[in-house]
Amino acid sequence: MATAPTKRSKTASKPARRPAASVKGGKIIYFFGKSRCDGRGDMKALLGGKGANLAAMTRIGLPVPPGFTITTEVCTYYYQNGRKFPPNLASELSKAIAWLEKETGKKFGDPKNPLLVSVRSGARDSMPGMMDTILNLGLNDETTEGLKAATKNGRFAWDSYRRFVQMYGDVVMGVQKRHEHEHEPFDEVMEKLKHEVGATQDTDLNEADLQELVRRYKQLIWERTGKEFPTDPLKQLEGAIGAVFGSWMNERAVIYRQKYRIPDDWGTAVNVQSMVFGNMGDDCATGVAFTRDPATGENVFYGEYLVNAQGEDVVAGVRTPKKISEMASDPILAPTYKELERVRKMLEKNFGDVQDFEFTIERKKLYMLQTRNGKRTALAYVKIAHDMVKERLMTPEHAIRSGDPEALNQLLQPVFDRQAYERAKKEGRLMATGLPAGPGAASGAVVFSAAKAEELAAKGQHVVLARIETSPEDLRGMIAADGILTCRGGVSSHAALVARQMGKVCVAGASDIHIDYQTRTLTCGSVTLKEGDAISINGSTGEVFHGAIATADSELKQVLITKTLKPSESEVFQYYNFIMKLADKYRRLGIRTNADQPDQVINAVAFGAEGIGLCRTEHMFFEGDRIISVRQMILADNETDRRAALARLLPEQQKDFEGIFRALNGLPACIRLLDPPLHEFLPHEDNPTGMQEVAEQLKVSVERVRQRIRELHEFNPMLGFRGCRLGIKYPEISEMQVRAIFQAAAAVMKDGIKVRPEIMIPLVGFKRELDLQAEIVHRVAREVMKETGKKIAYAVGTMIEVPRGALTADEIAETAEFFSFGTNDLTQTCLGMSRDDSGSFLPTYQEREILKTNPFATIDTGGVGQLMRIGVEKGRSTRQELKIGICGEHGGDPASIRFCHTLGLDYVSCSPFRVPIARLAAAQAALQEG
Ligand code: PEP
Ligand code: MG
Repeated sequence: MATAPTKRSKTASKPARRPAASVKGGKIIYFFGKSRCDGRGDMKALLGGKGANLAAMTRIGLPVPPGFTITTEVCTYYYQNGRKFPPNLASELSKAIAWLEKETGKKFGDPKNPLLVSVRSGARDSMPGMMDTILNLGLNDETTEGLKAATKNGRFAWDSYRRFVQMYGDVVMGVQKRHEHEHEPFDEVMEKLKHEVGATQDTDLNEADLQELVRRYKQLIWERTGKEFPTDPLKQLEGAIGAVFGSWMNERAVIYRQKYRIPDDWGTAVNVQSMVFGNMGDDCATGVAFTRDPATGENVFYGEYLVNAQGEDVVAGVRTPKKISEMASDPILAPTYKELERVRKMLEKNFGDVQDFEFTIERKKLYMLQTRNGKRTALAYVKIAHDMVKERLMTPEHAIRSGDPEALNQLLQPVFDRQAYERAKKEGRLMATGLPAGPGAASGAVVFSAAKAEELAAKGQHVVLARIETSPEDLRGMIAADGILTCRGGVSSHAALVARQMGKVCVAGASDIHIDYQTRTLTCGSVTLKEGDAISINGSTGEVFHGAIATADSELKQVLITKTLKPSESEVFQYYNFIMKLADKYRRLGIRTNADQPDQVINAVAFGAEGIGLCRTEHMFFEGDRIISVRQMILADNETDRRAALARLLPEQQKDFEGIFRALNGLPACIRLLDPPLHEFLPHEDNPTGMQEVAEQLKVSVERVRQRIRELHEFNPMLGFRGCRLGIKYPEISEMQVRAIFQAAAAVMKDGIKVRPEIMIPLVGFKRELDLQAEIVHRVAREVMKETGKKIAYAVGTMIEVPRGALTADEIAETAEFFSFGTNDLTQTCLGMSRDDSGSFLPTYQEREILKTNPFATIDTGGVGQLMRIGVEKGRSTRQELKIGICGEHGGDPASIRFCHTLGLDYVSCSPFRVPIARLAAAQAALQEG
């Protein structure tokens, strides 16, 4: 339990470690004011973001109303001690109030000159709107009269009081609606009074009405709680502090922390600050502003304000605020605007980033209530980082740290035309929501088969391929389609990984949608779409709409992929490129790509990939009509026939590899030998047309095809006859693939292009498996080198994707020259959860907190991560220079990339369109390490 308080470094810019539970004797309250300022901007762990920044603003002389911060350690203490405050809090609080009274020249409870305060939460990371706030604390019947006298405004004073009673009654005394169908109790009381006095707006209530309202609010509190509303400001303050700490554990705060992975034990600080009022008249205002535009990144002052209002009026949206720039021409507030402009510059200079701040103007005087780094779109992020680094306002390190790698996707994807999208939502055309598996927007005719997708796309139509789930058989259709929609499968399902690899828009696992292949219809609730009807999907949100929605290509794509725009013509590209180059300076991890076609390689290299980390050769088997030879090979009942079919495939595979080597132009290519179970290359038994087609193609009977399909049937194909098991039983398959690789290498080398093949054996769990396959590789390599007279440098390695492979990595590394973690399979084999079928229970597992995140998207570090660690340690214990990468879907996930960095991997490999994300995430991982 209680440990000694940790010592804090004064200059530490890294977040401080979790504070100790005991606060006895330690400093628990930090003042900020003109006469004294204890905190600093780098004390976010202790003072919360708001408290630290209030101190920082005070220190640089900005007009911050004075106050004090109760530390996050008090919150931790509160929860570790059965919701009790530390014993010294009461005495420290009295001292703090005495200080604040002196600082402001006002007094708590003084009817003539009352001190009023706000009490607000403030965690280390901002959690907007998640916790409770109380304003106008210190008011009671007497001090309200004092406020009236001081402001000569009775209505204002009693309105402030009624707001306080309402907020306090709700948040501290728990007077809330008791069930879903009840009205908010305070609102109900107010509505009744308004009705009685014939008022339509809150503002129609006069001073006497508001006095009556306060009386009735107190009555309500008494009836509901059996307690009097506290009149002693110190008692009020203690209650409010307890409520703010209590709100750290309210449901919405807990859910928010889960979503953004904020640890529960960080706790919140409490900020007690003297009140200023923006609602005393037309020389008062309240507002929110950003130092630059958070949507576009433009260097313009951006924000809004309301004259004669309190902060909550801006949020409530009853009155429409004015643009901040309009204040420049306001007859009363124009001088204050000049002050705001000055503040804007000071904030950026001091905080080194765009600030999002709240202010109040009381009788023309500006007060700063809070500031924090502004949240921004990906476009704004790259522009702001570029501009502010160039302006020397932001450090390059912060430019990297402050980006959300995942959000870079926004820059790459086609998007819905904004107005058309809003219209579709308004018209109620949203019909289902699945997993956002491939970001961007696609709109076109819905089709239910790969063949139809190809047919319509060949005619120049935009299509969305909708399948219950996809398999490699659908690949051609997926290539032809603008978007892919499935009703089953998760983020590492076939559809999702292929979509990401191709940069296709994809919504996976939209389980409310029912697809009927027979009638070629898609149904969701009362909506039924026939083949050819328009459908639109948003792969960034998972939304599925019926009907068309217009889309537009992103500029980045036009520069890097379609090359329809020159780099010099696109500012966005230049900002993006600046960030990427900066990221490359910091990162230690290499970045490769998962690609199996030359165009994918070219795209990935344009995004900055430094080679191929995984070429899934089976995907090539669906190109052109080579599937016929593949099927002949599968149907062969003897080695001679099998070899004959493979011989027909050889030149085709060789062409594939030549294309890839040329596209790589000297970068390394990690090529994996055949991996999936063979049945994936044949139609399903319940697809008579498919079987008929195969029979005709191969000139055999349908019966023969059916018999082979039955022979190949497995109950558990993912644990069945696949991976290196194929090459061990049929060495001629590996031989053909290896020969194609080396012959292609030799051919490309003839044109003076360097090649660096790395041959990767899948699903290895035993050293002997790898030995047998490596023998083939070395033998064929020798043969081809002799035949062609070319000396080809190559390496042989393995995927580590079954637990036994990781556990015996020291033995396997005797043969393997490199490892690549296949974390898709390693996750399913470590957790015993099928990557294709776990969608039915994973959401429940996450809800019940058995799993914090989807293990097929983010590495389960406690389980799979341990196997990886063992793999790395054991592998390198045998072979120190062992090159190790990762090529599972996790290779493009920022949190997993961070983990791979700490494990000391050499590179991560991800789909081409995630390469920029990986570059930024790898740089952040390196900076985090310090
Ligand atoms: C893996 O298992 O992580 C992997 C990359 O291989 P595949 O997804 O092709 O099974
Ligand atoms: Mg695998």
